[in-house]
Amino acid sequence: MTASPSAKTGNPKLAFRPLPVPQVDVYGFWGDRADAVATCTADILYERCVEARMLEQIDPDRPSPGIVIPFHSPSPDEADRQGAEFTGSTVTTQMFWDSDLGKTIETAAYSLYRRKNPELEKKIDAVIDMYGKLQQEDGYLSSWYQRIQPGKRWTNLRDCHELYCAGHLIEGAVAYYQATGKRKLLDIMCRYADHIASVLGPEPGKKKGYCGHEEIELALVKLARVTGERKYMELAKYFIDQRGQQPHYFDEEARARGADPKAYHFKTYEYSQSHIPVREQHKVVGHAVRAMYLYSGMADIATEYGDDTLRSALDLLWDDLTTKSLYVTGGLGPSAHNEGFTSDYDLPNESAYAETCAAVGLVFWASRMLGMGPNARYADMMERALYNGSISGLSLDGSLFFYENPLESRGAHNRWKWHRCPCCPPNIGRMVASIGSYFYSLADDALAVHLYGDSTARFDISGVPASLTQTSRYPWDGAVEIALEPQAPVEFTLHLRIPAWSASAQLKVNGEAIKPAEITSDGYAAIKRTWTKGDDVRLDLEMPIERLYANPQVRQDAGRVALSRGPLIYCVEASDNDSQPHRLTLPRTATIEAQQRPELLGGVVTLSTAALADVPDGWQDGLYRPEPPTTAETRLTAIPYFAWDNREPGEMLVWLRDG
Ligand SMILES: [Zn+2]
Repeated sequence: MTASPSAKTGNPKLAFRPLPVPQVDVYGFWGDRADAVATCTADILYERCVEARMLEQIDPDRPSPGIVIPFHSPSPDEADRQGAEFTGSTVTTQMFWDSDLGKTIETAAYSLYRRKNPELEKKIDAVIDMYGKLQQEDGYLSSWYQRIQPGKRWTNLRDCHELYCAGHLIEGAVAYYQATGKRKLLDIMCRYADHIASVLGPEPGKKKGYCGHEEIELALVKLARVTGERKYMELAKYFIDQRGQQPHYFDEEARARGADPKAYHFKTYEYSQSHIPVREQHKVVGHAVRAMYLYSGMADIATEYGDDTLRSALDLLWDDLTTKSLYVTGGLGPSAHNEGFTSDYDLPNESAYAETCAAVGLVFWASRMLGMGPNARYADMMERALYNGSISGLSLDGSLFFYENPLESRGAHNRWKWHRCPCCPPNIGRMVASIGSYFYSLADDALAVHLYGDSTARFDISGVPASLTQTSRYPWDGAVEIALEPQAPVEFTLHLRIPAWSASAQLKVNGEAIKPAEITSDGYAAIKRTWTKGDDVRLDLEMPIERLYANPQVRQDAGRVALSRGPLIYCVEASDNDSQPHRLTLPRTATIEAQQRPELLGGVVTLSTAALADVPDGWQDGLYRPEPPTTAETRLTAIPYFAWDNREPGEMLVWLRDG
């Protein structure tokens, strides 16, 4: 029942919608990643949610952990400050458990589509039953406010993740419905969304609130699209429009519960991007994940309503992020203090916070900018974040995770099994499991191919069922074969991204060469024709090895160089090198070779070259001396950044000394 672009949810004819996950099969590189999630991560997420005792918080048939089992409760103000974490001797409860379960359901849903897993499906059904029982008569649903803090609902939107949790459960519900056809959770969440709309909104008598942690906005857009109900789109638009308006809701809300608004732990509403109305925001600030989720929701609303005022703000925000505050890996948010942004060009490598969720959030935002039409400005960055700073957060076998994704390590930053705040594991899980929907988007008379790699997409265009199959070894090779199979001849435009990193691209349609430059705008070659069964397109993207240098304003990268090939950023890891990475210098004249290594890290292309290494000999007696260290010739081997820390722990470095 996926709504068509012209359904009740919106009007713009040009809107491009991602293909739903079940309509795209991925193989090759992303097939391996998605298999790791389907065969390993999805089960692990559920099990670790159980181990973290989340079900005890949501299951109304069990004693409420907040009431029956003694726990240490901080004062309300302290709870606000600490994100209201209540830790007791026998149980831990969290205000955001519903969000982790929502993302776990979403990961399971997309994984079930890829690989049947009746046992997991049964467990998820049981969790959904718990939510069904927990839901109140009026539709309200929050395990935290019903079971741990009863009587306090809608009193602290600033800090307590109430709508954020709703958003993740909505996303889980949409995914579970799409993957399994079961609509119990979807119905539950529609009832809850209706309740939310009865409490919050622009109408007289309703609270003028919105969530301190954005997420509900993009989730409601998904709900509107899958149900065809415009009221959910309207609610999402309200949350976007109301954010940062005066009088400030978070001030009023704090006073209403007897707190001083100025006592806010994070000092400024920049932390939650609510310092000014969103259309006036030009600078990326605050908590990185919140920012990415907000901009994602804004992009959806800009697409659905054809709202250029939102789009203008988003373009300025995009410029600000990508020219001043983005790691070369597509990671973002350097500081642990606010889990977010600091000042322009501040991109420390070893202490980089660069939360997995933030890079995943950038993928969400970039993909939604593509709703307004194919544009490589967004898709290239989506690809950068996808292949580097996001999937670095998941081990190759799908069992271990990173929260922070630094660009330098002395060997002690290693993957962990679980986290006190386990937001990242299910976030990277659901993104990988739904990767097919990032490959393609569809408009009334066009299909855009944003990502390359082995895959098959099924879609209807102008009423004609069609499929498109890519055959490619991407990202290891830039040759892409595309076969089109419409069931009847049909005219539409096929948009193919020509990545900015590709020095040259060659294009053939049914064997006939076309000059990409003549049909390319915004970084996409547009091929408009009547397609018939058996048509094929061949795209050859040159994939040079690049030396990348940072803007001189980035103090941490001065005199340094990073290596890339195609969409991949590389790093040097101890396992492949005789010298410690920080002692290596990469000469500018060195010839760098790409080498296929099917036996290494699940099959990667490595980069290797002659390099120089500082020799520690003769330095046993002291720290300093007037002569520089001697150097020795050595070999340097670099691996894709996403694959680091999958072997024995060791040092790692992205930005090498440039010689
Ligand atoms: Zn996270």
